[in-house]
Amino acid sequence: MSSRGYKIVLTADRTLMSDYSTLFDGMVSASQTDTVPAFILKTILAPAPAVGPDKKVLKAPLGLRRIEAALSRHGFKRKEIGIFRESELDFAVGEDTAIVAVSSGDPAGLGMNSSTMEALYGGTIHNKHFFRQLLAKISSLKKNGLKFKTVVGGPGAWQLLGDKEFEADHIICGYCEGNVSGLFKDIIHHRAAKELEGRNPEPGEIPHILGPSSMGVVETSRGCGMGCAFCTLKDTPMIHLPESTILADIEANISGGNRNIALISEDFFRYGSASFAVPAPEKLIDLLTEIRSKTRTKLIQTDHVNIATAGAYSDNELKEVASLIGGSHERDYIWLNLGIETPSERLLKENRAGGKMLLPEGKNWEAFSLEQIKRLSGFGFFPLISVIIGLPGETEEDALCLERFIDKLKDAKASVFPLYYTAIENKSKTGINPAKKKIYGRIMKKSYSLNFKWVPKMYWENQNLAGVNKARMLMLQFMGKGQRLIMKY
Ligand code: SF4
Repeated sequence: MSSRGYKIVLTADRTLMSDYSTLFDGMVSASQTDTVPAFILKTILAPAPAVGPDKKVLKAPLGLRRIEAALSRHGFKRKEIGIFRESELDFAVGEDTAIVAVSSGDPAGLGMNSSTMEALYGGTIHNKHFFRQLLAKISSLKKNGLKFKTVVGGPGAWQLLGDKEFEADHIICGYCEGNVSGLFKDIIHHRAAKELEGRNPEPGEIPHILGPSSMGVVETSRGCGMGCAFCTLKDTPMIHLPESTILADIEANISGGNRNIALISEDFFRYGSASFAVPAPEKLIDLLTEIRSKTRTKLIQTDHVNIATAGAYSDNELKEVASLIGGSHERDYIWLNLGIETPSERLLKENRAGGKMLLPEGKNWEAFSLEQIKRLSGFGFFPLISVIIGLPGETEEDALCLERFIDKLKDAKASVFPLYYTAIENKSKTGINPAKKKIYGRIMKKSYSLNFKWVPKMYWENQNLAGVNKARMLMLQFMGKGQRLIMKY
């Protein structure tokens, strides 16, 4: 332990804090269950983040970077705050420490991805173990007579509400840069409730990050607000970050030695639009042009895109976006995560997700989705399609309809990740309906046969452009083949 410790210590578990080269590396690591030994995860899939001479991490999850920046801007001195790995907490936490704040992604393993991986591979998702292990470590520091408070926040905090076994003093739910300084002061002065609500700041008030983020993650927009019943962002309206903030966050990465950027949003193609119904392709093209002309960014990665927004872009606009993302490289596998959820319009509407089906006159959701997947892959994008099995109200015919939808993708350059439904409200995992078990098995089998054909190619292109060494790339490809053999389907 340092002599008196940092006043505010920020941390996260190994799966969130690791130094991944690409977004997909992070996804692979977060998808492992304890059928993969923890030492393989720690040594190969989730390498420890590098630390500086002051023992702080050199790259940190974007959420922690934002909290660090918000606290530094409002009432705390920068030297009082530090972001540390679990292994450095003995050093960072001391008599002066008032708060140890932990970011969480999927702390109870309730995310749909976790439930699905447990069904596919057996065992319990590693995220859950690592998170509990981190909290146990923090509790053990308290036993040394230290008086700090433990605070948990981040996108997975909702999973811990009402959990009596969970050992933290406070939980903050939602984006909180707008009031985190005030909440931390209330916590320090013992006047805060256990469960606290964060305040999302206005876009112009989102503080620029002060150092590089893990995987070079930079937000372009946050929230969504489309109302889908199965999504935690259903009631959080989308806001777009000003170009100046995005460029400043990229610069913070580049000056910290990180030239590979991941532009993150719940709908990348909606950037700059005032409404979902009217996307503004010129704003996204302008942003990407600025990034390419004013920064020394190498690889650009993207994540989520809505089918309807993609459909509103002309062919020329899609080509231009792909070319700006590619920069000096011709790309075949620009990853786009498309949430189709189900080809059944009725089922989507019953789950309050009808808002995302903004369809042109005379089109149906399934045909429109297939058309957009084909268009996107033709322009160098790689659609990574997520579908949900077991949605409330799903009939046997809906499940068969999903199977037929996957059959129609068999020649497409795309991948499909089926997720088992988990209810957000009562935090329960849904049991698999025995009558549909065989259909679900076929859906998984067909999806993963497509995935094992294309995902290694996408992974190779992304890692190559990210500068990962060839030996590591080959080893990960080999491990991917091994995972196919232990799948239950
Ligand atoms: S469109 Fe996607 S991100 Fe938005 S509420 Fe629905 S599932 Fe969530």
